[in-house]
Order: sequence, then C-alpha cells, then structure tokens
Amino acid sequence: MEYGAGGDGRLRIGPGVDDDYLTVTMLAVGLAGILALRSGAGNGDSRSGGLLPNAWRGAFARLWWRCQEQGVPPPGSDLDLLALCARPFVAWPVSLSLSSQDMQNCLLADGELSPFAEQGARLAAADVEAEWTENRVYQALRAAASANGADDKQVERIYAVLRRRLIDQPVLADLDLKKWEAEFPRTDGSGQTYVHRLVTAAYIARSAPGPQQYLRCPSCRNTVPDRRMACGTPGCPGGPTETVSKKTLAVMYEQHRATRRFIHDPGLVEARIVDALASKKDLARWVRVTPYPRLDTLDILIEFLTTEDNRVVVAGIWGADAKDQDSARLLGRSFSWPGSIPCHRRFLVLPEHRADQPGYAADLIAELDGRAAGVEVVGEKRLVSMVAARARELAL
Ligand SMILES: [Zn+2]
Repeated sequence: MEYGAGGDGRLRIGPGVDDDYLTVTMLAVGLAGILALRSGAGNGDSRSGGLLPNAWRGAFARLWWRCQEQGVPPPGSDLDLLALCARPFVAWPVSLSLSSQDMQNCLLADGELSPFAEQGARLAAADVEAEWTENRVYQALRAAASANGADDKQVERIYAVLRRRLIDQPVLADLDLKKWEAEFPRTDGSGQTYVHRLVTAAYIARSAPGPQQYLRCPSCRNTVPDRRMACGTPGCPGGPTETVSKKTLAVMYEQHRATRRFIHDPGLVEARIVDALASKKDLARWVRVTPYPRLDTLDILIEFLTTEDNRVVVAGIWGADAKDQDSARLLGRSFSWPGSIPCHRRFLVLPEHRADQPGYAADLIAELDGRAAGVEVVGEKRLVSMVAARARELAL
C-alpha cells in the first residue's frame, strides 16, 4: 500500500504532517478513547474525565499544521473537530491526501466509530505515530535497496549500507543527502530518488540555510541540546560533547523520534559488534560478517571459513539477534528467533548495559525457556570473544 507521503517532492518544514493516513488513524484512536471515556463516565470513573487521549491531541496538532500549510482556518476547538469527524473527509475544509475511496469515509457514524475508524484504531498500537513511522522507514529502505540494486546480492548490500547509515547519521545536511543520491540515483515515477524518500520517512526536515553547528554525543552521535546534558540514549557510554559543523544549502534533517528510538538507538549494539569484529584484522580470513543479511532477516550473520582442497568453504554459521529492551520478561515473552537462515548456533545478544544488570539475563532465560529452544543469551563482548576464539581454533 502506498501512503502517498511527499511523493510530489515538495519539501515541507515542521512536524511530519505529510502523511494524512497517520493523522486520520490517530483521530480514530483518539475517538475510540473518547468513546471509551464517555461510556465509562456513567460507571463512576471520573479520574480520567475531561482528559482527551494523546492520539487525539497529536492528530489535532497535525491537522493544525496541515491547515496552516493550505491557508485554511483550523478547527477552533475539540468540539469543532468532533463535528468534522462526523462528515466525510471530502467535505472537510482542509484537503487531505487519502485515496478517493477513503475520502468518502467519515470517522463517526451515528455517534459510533465508523468501520473505517474501527480499522484504523485496531491497526494502531499504543504508540501509533512511532510504529507508523518505523514501518514506513523499513518500507522505504527496502524500496531504495531494490530500486538501486541490480541483483539480490546488490540489493542486500545496499540495504545493509543504508540501514547502517541510519545508525551512523542521526543528523544529515541536505548536502550529505545529495551525496547519497549520487551514490544511489534511482528515482520513482515522480522523479524523486528513493534515498530522498527514505530520508523523508526517517528524518524531519528543518530550514537551515548556510553553515550549521550542533552539539552531539560522541558515542551515539545523537544531538544534545546543551553541553552539560547527557544524551539519554540507553546504555550509551557518552563522553565529552562534540561540536559538529555542517554546510547546507537550505535544510538539515534530524531523525524522527521513532527512527531514533526504534531503529537508531537499538542498532548501536549491532553496529558495535560488527565494528569490533571488523577491527580484528587477524580474523578476516576466517570469519565473514554480514550485517542485516537478506534484508534484515537477522541482525548479524557470522560465517566461519576454512579451506578444503584449496577452496574456501563455510565451516560454521552463527546468527546473532541483538535486543535492547527495558523489560527482560516482556522481551522473553515476545521473542522468537527471526527468519529462516539456518544457523548452527543462535545468539540473542544483549548490550553490555543490559547484560550487566543483575537478574536481567536470568529473567530473560527463564522466560525464553520452552519458547525459543536452543537460543543462547550472551552479552555483546562475550559474543565477540567467542567468535574470535572459534576463528582461532579454525586457524590452527
Ligand atoms: Zn550518547
């Protein structure tokens, strides 16, 4: 499905308001919440009375920006917006980019969620905006890789390269994007490059003509607002804040909150493992490391190589899936071994700050028991030393 975001190539500054499906989904979630509050009001539950769901607030803000963009007066109050929800989108003063079929829908019908709104609300998880953005980013990554790669191998390689850039570059100047575009030049039907579409999905553009400076954490490269403040990235070792200077033509891109939270920050551990293995030059002959094999089937594929009759053969395959989550119990309950690449050993890898947390690994293993048979839980450093040890055995 295509959500028609920014396909016209126009640059929009401000929050990512160009995805109207997200706005109407958030409205649907908000309405579901409002209706639930209303039906609960008669049951003596007054604690949440008067508070509107966050999704509703978020949707209102997005719509407000949309109205600004089009020079249309925004709804004056929640009641105005509620009244709009009972009208089909095609009759709204602000024009939304939805399919012509969906434009005929309204969100409320006879004071109940319409089937359209029902579907939207059901599709949405708790953090609807984040999940939506995350999915869009992965879609855009796959599209950029398959448009620019000539065969499966290239597509996989380009996917891994772009995926890694989302980890290495939480902030991007438009001049950086130009370099990406020169490297991966394929365009869609509207003439926009697929990598531009990826950046539009994963980053928020802000107007920034001329040379720019910002502060960042040297370890995770996330921006920090103030020299005295820590980056706040889970498990980040931090370090003295750096000042970064960038030249731009007109625009800086900063990662969307959801990209940062669900793709960039958890990806740091995978990147550290890949870099640690790559830095051991003596291993290169014996170990082949593939990040994000087969379009993210797995985080890291580790192949041990040996020679037989002067031919290089794969002597063993290990798979690693890295997870950085707050709750070991919830992680254990939701974890299943990803994908279908056959591996002799399978590792669920924890970043050091989780592996060091008392009880974390034990809780995780207890919860995994019976759910993910044969999956070994290890810390990132332990995995790297296990790989090195195995490679040295092969080298003997
Ligand atoms: Zn940091």
